[in-house]
Amino acid sequence: MEMKHRYFEDPIVRKIAEAEECVWLNPHLRPAEAALAALPYSRADVEDAALRLARFAPYIKRCFPETAADGGLIESPLTEIPHMAAFLRKSSAPCLPGRMLLKRDSDLAVAGSVKARGGIYEVLKHAEARACAAGLLRETDDYSILAEPEYKRFFQQYEIAVGSTGNLGLSIGIMSAALGFRVTVHMSADARAWKKDLLRSKGVRVMEYAGDYSEAVRQGRALSEADPMSYFVDDENSVDLFMGYAVAALRLQGQLAAQGIAVDAEHPLFVTIPCGVGGAPGGITFGLKLIYGDNVHVFYAEPVQCPCMLLGLATGLNQNISVQDVGLSGKTHADGLAVGRPSGFVGGIVRTLLSGAYTLEDDRLYNMMRALMECESIFIEPSACACLPAPSLLAAAPGMEAYLVAHGISAHMENATHVLWATGGRLVPEAVREEYRNTYLR
Ligand SMILES: *Cc1c(COP(=O)(O)O)cnc(C)c1O
Repeated sequence: MEMKHRYFEDPIVRKIAEAEECVWLNPHLRPAEAALAALPYSRADVEDAALRLARFAPYIKRCFPETAADGGLIESPLTEIPHMAAFLRKSSAPCLPGRMLLKRDSDLAVAGSVKARGGIYEVLKHAEARACAAGLLRETDDYSILAEPEYKRFFQQYEIAVGSTGNLGLSIGIMSAALGFRVTVHMSADARAWKKDLLRSKGVRVMEYAGDYSEAVRQGRALSEADPMSYFVDDENSVDLFMGYAVAALRLQGQLAAQGIAVDAEHPLFVTIPCGVGGAPGGITFGLKLIYGDNVHVFYAEPVQCPCMLLGLATGLNQNISVQDVGLSGKTHADGLAVGRPSGFVGGIVRTLLSGAYTLEDDRLYNMMRALMECESIFIEPSACACLPAPSLLAAAPGMEAYLVAHGISAHMENATHVLWATGGRLVPEAVREEYRNTYLR
C-alpha cells in the first residue's frame, strides 16, 4: 500500500478509494484507427472466431434445441426500452438525449449470461483442436456429429477447469459437460449456492475455497497444471475468451442495421457494459471499435467497492493494483463483478479504446432492477443492472460537455443511440429473483 500512495494525489483515485460514485473520462482515448493499428489483434481474429461459431452451429442446434430458431447461433435480442428511458429522464435530470436499447445477453441461450459468448467459445475451440489433432474431425465436417457417443467418449479423457464467481463456471461447465469433458469449477465460498447446485446437477465437479475469487483461481490453476489431460480456462489472460466476446459486436452490427438504426458521425452510438475482470466488456469493446471506430463511445460500469478495471486504468498499473490496495472491500451484491484485480491483458488493449468508466453504489442496482421490471417487464440480475443508469450518470459527469464537443457530437445527441448491455439473468431461479426484488439497501 505504501508504494501506491502517490496515486492518491489523483482526484479520481481518491474518489475511488473513498468508495464515492464517480465518472472517469479516459485521457488516453485515441482516434480508433491509430489505437487499433497499434494492437497485436485485428478484425481477422474476430472473424475467425465468428466462423468457428458458425461451424459449431449445427452441433449447438442439435444439443440445445432452444437455439434452433437462430440456426444454432447463441444470440440475444436487442430491444428498445422506451418506458425505462422515460423513467430515467423523469427520475434523474440531467440525462443524455437519444433512444435507449437493451442488449439482452441476460436471455442468451444455454448459459443465461454474457459468458455464453466467451466461455462457450473457448470450450468449443478447445474441443475442435483436440478432435482435429486426433484425426476425428475436419473443419469441413458437419459438426453435429460431435453429439455422437464416440465423441463424448473421446472428450471424456480430458478435463476442463476454471475458476469462477459463478457465471463463467456455468457457461464453461454446461458446455464442457455437454461435449463429454470432465469439468471442474473452482469457486469462492461466497459464490451463490444455486449456481453450485445447478452445476452439480449437470455432472460438474464444484470445488469450494474459503478465500476469495483469486484464491479459487490460484488453486484451480495449480491443480489443473499438474494434470497433462487438464486444460485451465484463464479468464485473466485468455485471448480465446476475448475473441468469443468480440463476436458480439458483429452480431450487434447486424441487429442495429436490421432495425434501421444508423451509426455514423451524426448518429453516435453509446455502449455501456458492466465490468468485472474485463474479458467480456474488453472483447465487446474491441469488436465495436473495429466496426464503428470513432462513432462508438464505450463505457464500463463497476460497483463502488470493486472498480478494478477503472483503478487499473486510472493509475496505469493495470493488474498490478487491486481494489484492496486502496482500502476497498471488494465486496458487492453484483456477484458477476466481484473481482478485485483486473485483467492486465484486457487493460492493455482497452487503454486507448475506452471512453470512460463510472462507479455506482449497490443500492442503485436493485432500484434499477425493479424499475426495469416495472417499466418493461424484463428481469436482469443485479450485476447486469450496473449499465442501466448510464445515460444519466454520464450526463452528470463534469467533463461530459467537453467530451461531446471534443468528439464533434454535442449537436447530434438527439440522434444518439444508447445500448445498455444487460449481461445476465436468465438462469436465476424464481426464489432468488424474489429475494432480489425485496432487497433494499437503504
Ligand atoms: C462476468 C460478468 C460480467 C463482466 O464480465 P468480465 O469478463 O468479468 O468483466 C458482467 N455481468 C455479468 C452478469 C457477468 O456474469
